[in-house]
Amino acid sequence: MADPVRLTFLGGLGEIGRNCACLEIDDRILLIDCGLMFPDLDMPGVDLVLPDFTWLRDNAERVEACVLTHGHEDHVGGLSFLLRDLSFPIYGSALTLGLARNRIEEAGLLDRTELIQVSDNERRRIGPFDVEFIPVAHSVPHGFAIALHTPQGVILHSGDWKLDLTPVDGRRTDLARIGAISVDAGVRLLLADSTNAEEPGHTRSELEVGAVLRGLFAERANQRIIVACFSSHIHRIQQIADAAVAQGRIIATLGRSMGKNVQMARDLGLLRVPDANLVDIERVGPLDPHRVCIISTGSQGEPLSALALMAAGDNKWVKVGEGDTVILSSHTIPGNEAPVGRVIDGLHRLGADVIHSGLAEVHVSGHAMQGEMKTLLSVARPDYFVPVHGEFRHLTHHARLAMAMGVAADHVLLCEDGDVLELGDAGIDFAGEVPAGYLYVDGIVGDVGTGVLRDRRVLSEEGVVVVVVTVDARSGEVLTGPEIITRGWVYAPEAEALLDEARKVVRANLEEAAVSGVCDVESLKRHARSALGKFVNERTKRRPMIVPVVMEV
Ligand SMILES: [Zn+2]
Ligand SMILES: [Zn+2]
Repeated sequence: MADPVRLTFLGGLGEIGRNCACLEIDDRILLIDCGLMFPDLDMPGVDLVLPDFTWLRDNAERVEACVLTHGHEDHVGGLSFLLRDLSFPIYGSALTLGLARNRIEEAGLLDRTELIQVSDNERRRIGPFDVEFIPVAHSVPHGFAIALHTPQGVILHSGDWKLDLTPVDGRRTDLARIGAISVDAGVRLLLADSTNAEEPGHTRSELEVGAVLRGLFAERANQRIIVACFSSHIHRIQQIADAAVAQGRIIATLGRSMGKNVQMARDLGLLRVPDANLVDIERVGPLDPHRVCIISTGSQGEPLSALALMAAGDNKWVKVGEGDTVILSSHTIPGNEAPVGRVIDGLHRLGADVIHSGLAEVHVSGHAMQGEMKTLLSVARPDYFVPVHGEFRHLTHHARLAMAMGVAADHVLLCEDGDVLELGDAGIDFAGEVPAGYLYVDGIVGDVGTGVLRDRRVLSEEGVVVVVVTVDARSGEVLTGPEIITRGWVYAPEAEALLDEARKVVRANLEEAAVSGVCDVESLKRHARSALGKFVNERTKRRPMIVPVVMEV
């Protein structure tokens, strides 16, 4: 009889983002990733969304460490918030730690953690946890799958991965090691990336993008070329740089994270660009356009990014125009179509030629598709399977795939954020729930709260009507007002008559209330709000936010 182990999912099961799973052995907790999520369009003013850390905060002294699969924000971006309340060491590859470090440093929290570098195939004891870091290919270099050797057998977490057989750095997903574990100890439980579970076939190799880019560069030998991609996609940057260097172009980076990551990847020996081919963006001005290649951030249309500013003609260093080619070497994340569309329109308006993944194969996914998922399932041969990293439909498709591959239906568990699993001698079972709602962050303020968000939605969709009135403290009699101020409700000049009427309605209602003895501020506010709300709704069929301000004198 071995002690059971527990797994708690704080995020990533039901959305793409804020990935965070917790393994418990001997009362200690090991975090696997701690990510953030970028907000949807229906979250006005929200900068990012975090996992609910309540459970971790309540168990702060039990947290042993965090192991990172790779350096994407949806896996490391939550650390700079969690480290405000907790202190623990973080394990990951050199690049992963470098990417994670940026935000933690900005938040001034480096002293709350120790960043511990691990190498490919290293196996480490971290408290009661026996953790093995297995190389996988992904859209950021040096990602890991993580094998957790527990008293209840091996739990294998795929991380974000794809089966790229010709990766740019030659570092393939180590299927051989996964197969060896499967043969030796066996994989008791597999947790695997579900992002592309609806896509049949195999994700193409990153190397194919390089060939397409070289072709585009060759066709446009006389033009200035600007390429936008994710700043953590070092392999993509390498291929852009290779295409540029082959033509003798000088490369400049644009966007803060692009500059930082290129520097870091060069320092780590992960990116090879000759010194002679790299200059600061301030120095590209005088160069011949056809000798220049600019690698920029902003491929998701982010409003203040280098590319968005270029498209608006607002970039300090680069004025885009006739004869420029802009390549968006990226896939538009669902929800970002509108801002990306605006950027593409803006660039066209300035006379540039724009190439994106809808026109040429300038991007491939970093995630496994069905064919690769099947390969992993057949190599790992897990006893139990839990799909992770995806929206509910991705998890569902991945679960079906596992069953089709022979995992027993009652050994496939469809879990959601907040679920707790217990793996024991007899098998695996649900063992409760912990809070796992969205934590909305605006600026640096922790939780905006669903109330604030609801208010923002009403404000953005219906506007606001404020009514201000002064009353006598003793009698409740209306002394001045009501004044009505509106924003976003009706066009004021045309609505004078309507506002007049609204004033009369509120005044009459308050006078009536005063006569019946209501004179405290809170009750009068309630009266004002309901009278005005009813009037507004009846006359305009709208429901703006009603804010009553009642002052006593
Ligand atoms: Zn990733
Ligand atoms: Zn991810």
